[in-house]
Amino acid sequence: MTGSRKNLIILGAPGAGKGTQAKRLAGDFSWVHLSTGDMLREAIDKGTPLGVRVESYVKAGDLVPDDLIIELVGERLQQPDCGSGFLLDGFPRTVRQARKLDELLPGLGIHLDAVLYIRVPDDLIVERLSRRFTCSECGQMVIGSAGISECPECGGGLMRRPDDEPDTIIHRLGVYRENTRPLIDLYEAKRLLFEIDGTGSAETVYDRIVSALDPDSKGE
Ligand code: AMP
Repeated sequence: MTGSRKNLIILGAPGAGKGTQAKRLAGDFSWVHLSTGDMLREAIDKGTPLGVRVESYVKAGDLVPDDLIIELVGERLQQPDCGSGFLLDGFPRTVRQARKLDELLPGLGIHLDAVLYIRVPDDLIVERLSRRFTCSECGQMVIGSAGISECPECGGGLMRRPDDEPDTIIHRLGVYRENTRPLIDLYEAKRLLFEIDGTGSAETVYDRIVSALDPDSKGE
């Protein structure tokens, strides 16, 4: 599959491992990793007008208004690097966003190849999110365990995303169930959905994704 252009959506609850898998897939296959969460966090950190507008939503674990996100993604998809394939991570997150994306893509000459749905049981999601940290130096995501106090990649200090605090986690899962879960049926009906078992190690999940996208790669 190396070098093959694919336009994908990666879907799943917060903490399902979307970001980890998307980063690795994007690196291995030269696709653009388009994470709306990362774009918003960057805008907030830089204090841009968009960042100022969205900060309170992101901190509270609420969804940013659809129109802002649709504009952000629409602009990003028009940049030439997306022509080599992309992975949309964290978008769409509402049925309205999915419909708008459907309207947008043909005009940009883009065809959606597949939607990867990373399925993880709720109890595992809560457990993973409560152990999730980000390296303050290199930005690497780290699932903490006893004895880990620094980033295994660069030794930097670990910090928790403000929206990974326990109360906000519960709230974000509720937001996901209400707004984003309906997208699973929507993409299933379009025959675009690939359901991936998201339990087990990141490595195992990655292998499942690659096999699902390209069944011929099994055993390579
Ligand atoms: P994530 O990193 O994908 O978990 O996103 C972090 C936060 O950014 C979410 O809790 C929302 O506040 C906001 N966000 C990211 N993507 C979207 C989207 N597609 N629609 C609305 N809000 C979003």
